[in-house]
Amino acid sequence: MARYTDAVCRLCRREGQKLFLKGDRCYTDKCGVSRREYAPGMHGQGRTKVSEYGTQLREKQKAKRYYGVLESQFRGYFEIASKKKGKTGENLLSLLETRLDNTVYRLGFAMSRAEARQLVLHGHFTVNGRKVNIPSYLVKPGMTIALKEGSRSLDKFKNVIEANAFRNPPKWLEYDANSLSAKVTGVPAREDIDLPVEEQLIVELYSK
Ligand code: SF4
Repeated sequence: MARYTDAVCRLCRREGQKLFLKGDRCYTDKCGVSRREYAPGMHGQGRTKVSEYGTQLREKQKAKRYYGVLESQFRGYFEIASKKKGKTGENLLSLLETRLDNTVYRLGFAMSRAEARQLVLHGHFTVNGRKVNIPSYLVKPGMTIALKEGSRSLDKFKNVIEANAFRNPPKWLEYDANSLSAKVTGVPAREDIDLPVEEQLIVELYSK
């Protein structure tokens, strides 16, 4: 599947805010947004006026980039969200939040969603005891996500395991440090999702 391969800091700079796409670096003064607080490109410092459509588009792009999904996939999530009960915007974020790669990231097994995606693709995680290597897999209440037994001794997870005591998973995940697993206890609510986006603007954009 096609992926965005250009410098990811450009994406944050385009949105004018941190999207935390690079792990550790995002928390240092090397962060691209901290160093250059204007959009990338030739006209980056000249753009000021944004139309209603432009504002809606930016909110959609922000959400897409935050979760690392492409347009067609994002549109697919929107279609599912619009058929569910409740507010479509909140349903959309809730769906994105329950992607397996995001869940792995939220549990602190990876420093960024991109890294979590790689770890899932490499088969380091199980869902209900079975290996799942599909980053877009949607976890549901009652499911258990775990670091695979055979992956626990790998160097890359040693630091993660040591730091587990400091993890603060969201309310919808019940983490067990002993078994390095987490149970999905519910559906993520809007207040559990720290994405600084106005989801209603995405709904308006797609409803045109
Ligand atoms: Fe975004 Fe992280 Fe790059 Fe900062 S360091 S611009 S938050 S990806």
